[in-house]
Amino acid sequence: MNGAEVTGRLLAAADAIEAAQEDLSAADRAIGDGDHGAGMARAFAAVRKALAEKQPATPAEAFKTAGMAILFSAGGASGAVFGTYFMGLAKGAGSGELTAEAFAMALKEGASAVSARGGAKPGQKTMLDAAFPAAETCSGAETLFDALRRSAIAAEHGAQATIGMIAATGKAKTLGERSIGHIDPGAKSLAIILRAFAGQNA
Ligand code: ADP
Ligand code: MG
Repeated sequence: MNGAEVTGRLLAAADAIEAAQEDLSAADRAIGDGDHGAGMARAFAAVRKALAEKQPATPAEAFKTAGMAILFSAGGASGAVFGTYFMGLAKGAGSGELTAEAFAMALKEGASAVSARGGAKPGQKTMLDAAFPAAETCSGAETLFDALRRSAIAAEHGAQATIGMIAATGKAKTLGERSIGHIDPGAKSLAIILRAFAGQNA
């Protein structure tokens, strides 16, 4: 995929996040403060605007444009988390077209950047429980189509797996065992983003 194609997929992700805003807020009401849907919708409205202005020439530039827009627009933990994630995608994507290999590297850099910045590890009930499995499953993919499809499936499984986890970071941490039985809102968001990015309709 070239810069314009990646931009198109990011716009599809923005549509999907906006459509899911209520569900994301409901998930955050269960174990957080209920602002996740609004924060993500605001972030992706800014992504949409920034992409239209910038018209990125390469995949990395498209991811970076999205990352900056999120960092500057969204409040709360998720602004820093998802902004950092997209900046990591940009770093890992390299300078050329998005291939299966470049996408795998991008997902790996995205997850690592969030973990390095926020200090969370997989298993703590965050978006990283979708981000790391998505990155890992991609490393064996032979085509970009396959890598995209695999990442979407792994992120969804990872997000579902957070239902059984005890939150060990973020606002939900104070709930301890009472966080069991609820999906992590950020993991749910990432699954939605990667599904749309893979070209699958919500
Ligand atoms: P806030 O917690 O400030 O209300 P949001 O509700 O928008 O922010 O986002 C919460 C989500 O952010 C969580 O569901 C989790 O996935 C993610 N998150 C929070 N802290 C971290 C962290 N240190 N590393 C990775 N993800 C995190
Ligand atoms: Mg919140």
